[in-house]
Amino acid sequence: MADTPSTQDPSSRVVLVTGGNRGIGRTIAEEMAAAGHRVAVTSRSGDAPDGVLAVAADVTDAASLDAAFATVEDALGPVEIVVANAGITADNLLMRMSEDEFTSVVDTNLGGAYRTVRRAITNMVRAKYGRIVLVSSVSGLMGVAGQANYSSSKAALVGLARSITREVGSRGITANVVAPGFIRTDMTDALPEKQQKEYLQTIPAKRFAEAWEVAKVVRWISSDEAAYISGAVIPVDGGLGMGH
Ligand code: NDP
Repeated sequence: MADTPSTQDPSSRVVLVTGGNRGIGRTIAEEMAAAGHRVAVTSRSGDAPDGVLAVAADVTDAASLDAAFATVEDALGPVEIVVANAGITADNLLMRMSEDEFTSVVDTNLGGAYRTVRRAITNMVRAKYGRIVLVSSVSGLMGVAGQANYSSSKAALVGLARSITREVGSRGITANVVAPGFIRTDMTDALPEKQQKEYLQTIPAKRFAEAWEVAKVVRWISSDEAAYISGAVIPVDGGLGMGH
């Protein structure tokens, strides 16, 4: 499928994307850089697309995130747009789900978003400007058998974005959730073919999405044009989660 043309955002902002070395996060970083922003990505392995600053950080470790933000601030300036995208799965039926499978997923997906936003928000309040985008999942809205840990962590991001909106919405800061459906990445390629076919049947669009289809939405929701949208959940799921 052909890509759509990129719209240049009139103002160049400093952007930080967690989990930006591959998959959806990497594509978001590329899209933001193409829009004219100064972009940094974090991940545990520290890789990045061309023209984007790579900083190693583990979102489960507040000290490593703090150091990563400091590096980005020194190199690019205070972070104005933050995309909390880093996430993991550890699927299992609830009756077999271990403490570690539950807590590691919640600590990365929800705890990681909390730590990332908490570190970013002081400068945003000071600047009276900020865009916070939390990458959730249709799984968090609908629930998925075998994903009690993942779905819980992703559903909680809605409460996080809405609480942030109520706390700092008067300071020029928005916080929104983008909820992708089935996007082709390492995470979904790892699913068995039979399961992929079953998912396809349930998607009204009858196809999986490419990462750029999420990245374009993240770019727009974090643009100046979207200043009056906050606490929203924006699905990018081909209709899979309608009504949730
Ligand atoms: P990938 O597995 O391709 O990438 C995950 C990213 O998160 C990597 O950059 C990884 O980097 C990073 N990451 C994982 N754990 C940590 C950690 N503790 N600290 C820092 N970075 C970490 O996933 P996707 O691109 O598919 O998913 C991106 C986001 O989109 C996730 O939040 C996922 O839940 C969500 N999503 C994905 C969907 C899909 O269909 N693919 C559907 C709905 C939501 P590294 O391992 O180097 O640290």
